[in-house]
Amino acid sequence: MSDNDTIFSKIIRREIPADIVYEDDLCLAFRDVQPQAPVHVLLIPKKPIPKLADASPADHALLGHLLLKAKQVAADLGLEQGFRLVINNGEDGGQTVYHLHLHILGGRSLSWPPG
Ligand code: AMP
Repeated sequence: MSDNDTIFSKIIRREIPADIVYEDDLCLAFRDVQPQAPVHVLLIPKKPIPKLADASPADHALLGHLLLKAKQVAADLGLEQGFRLVINNGEDGGQTVYHLHLHILGGRSLSWPPG
């Protein structure tokens, strides 16, 4: 167990259930329990980086991997019409789980700006 053990670490370790849609050595994607769109998936690194602001140059390749996997997961889930990636960072960003995650949202037309 790391010093940043969150509910997402428990999902990675299969200690709590999740609807997993993609996994590889570096990341895991699963459906959000409170979906804000017809498709709402969270893509997380297995490395427990608390938030984007905590990422370091050593995470360069991992962050690139996450973006490339986000577009792959979006395509696999049929989001040909488009999708949105969101990373909430810190309190003002609305982050509630302190394990870096990308929200992949799609399946409807999304408004802008967000709240
Ligand atoms: P954020 O507010 O950006 O930190 O997003 C955290 C997201 O995690 C929210 O959209 C929650 O609905 C979602 N969430 C919390 N617990 C779980 C869980 N056990 N399985 C799937 N999604 C979860």
